[in-house]
Amino acid sequence: MQNKPNTPQIRSVITCPHCKAAALEHMPLDACQWFYRCNSCNELLTPKTGDCCVFCSYGTIPCPPVQLGDSCRKPA
Ligand SMILES: [Zn+2]
Repeated sequence: MQNKPNTPQIRSVITCPHCKAAALEHMPLDACQWFYRCNSCNELLTPKTGDCCVFCSYGTIPCPPVQLGDSCRKPA
């Protein structure tokens, strides 16, 4: 078991805004997940305006880049 201080959490519970179902999901460490399909109602979720990924919008824990003080949203 490793417990480094700068290691972000990679699990977040996503709550579907449509059916309120919650699911524990893995987050990629260096990428953003823009789409998430709810296992319960099959709705395709996308991030809210201003959020970089579905974990930041609907998860209990924001995505790893944001946890480390960065943003994964890259300017065009
Ligand atoms: Zn749902």
